[in-house]
Amino acid sequence: MLVVMNRQATAEQIDAVVAAIRRMNLTAHPMPGSTRTAIGITGNLSAVDPRSLEVLPGVEELLRVTKPYKLASREMHAADTYVRTTQTTVGPGTFTLIAGPCSVENEEMILRTADFLVSKGVRLMRAGAFKPRSSPYSFQGMGLEGLEILARARQRTGIGVVTELMDTDNADAVEQAADIIQIGTRNMQNFSLLKRVALTSKPVLLKRGLSATLEEWLMAAEYVMAGGNYNVVLCERGVRTFSDHSRNTLDLSVIPPVKHLSHLPILVDPSHGTGKRDYVPAMALAALAAGADGLLIEVHPDPDRALSDGAQSLNFAGFGRLLDWLRRLAEPLGRTIN
Ligand code: PEP
Ligand code: MN
Repeated sequence: MLVVMNRQATAEQIDAVVAAIRRMNLTAHPMPGSTRTAIGITGNLSAVDPRSLEVLPGVEELLRVTKPYKLASREMHAADTYVRTTQTTVGPGTFTLIAGPCSVENEEMILRTADFLVSKGVRLMRAGAFKPRSSPYSFQGMGLEGLEILARARQRTGIGVVTELMDTDNADAVEQAADIIQIGTRNMQNFSLLKRVALTSKPVLLKRGLSATLEEWLMAAEYVMAGGNYNVVLCERGVRTFSDHSRNTLDLSVIPPVKHLSHLPILVDPSHGTGKRDYVPAMALAALAAGADGLLIEVHPDPDRALSDGAQSLNFAGFGRLLDWLRRLAEPLGRTIN
């Protein structure tokens, strides 16, 4: 349900509607717009009749939100969401690059990568300190020590840090180190983890589950938003299909429906989407053309020696070439790379 206030509504009238919603044991989500404020209502609406709100001063109309995801839907929030970090803003009009190695392997390679990315104008670096690996015998990440390395790279170069949170135990440490907290594919429906990141002060990068429908994905975003964190960035990283020519099937066709149904920004991860570095540039360019708001892309100083995902990682020269192509394609599309 959405309460649309009229253009002349005063702050007191908005507060009175919020208070009335709370008295019904529902949650109010005030959303100031450029011309008027709307107030989203979430909670179990079956037991109350919110039509009583319609008569309150300053209320223009009450709209029913038909989708099961409410706060993530465009029905409730028509304007595009821009997610801000200290270093940049993710959202339509720009094309945000988040690049870096799959894992933090040691301090030297992280500092080298950060210096390289900064020299190319990239403002956000992604590297995992906690790694969800299919095999228990594979490199599991450096854990807390990896977070400390990322914090030093951030301090030295000013680059923003994106890193994955795998379990609620490490939430405080990851929140402190990260400018954006990644929730990985395998955790898209880890509801305890989603509720926990809802309580953090940092934006959440929510990767699509391996077999998640768009509705399931947006419901996962809804968990984070319902808990009070409205800064969610979606990330398409390929889904599991019968195709075996690539690691996953990168579903670029999900971008237009995401934009239609939701106001949240969406990034594309062509590295996990293809699993092969030779295929990454084509899918990265296609993501820009298809309307994504940016990329999450694996770049490693020496991919053939990487401890994880080397086969799909670009080296610095390859990333530099892709960046040139992206810049050339962005211009006629009216987008700027950031
Ligand atoms: C990653 O980003 O390195 C990763 C493990 O991704 P995903 O959760 O998409 O598999
Ligand atoms: Mn990876």
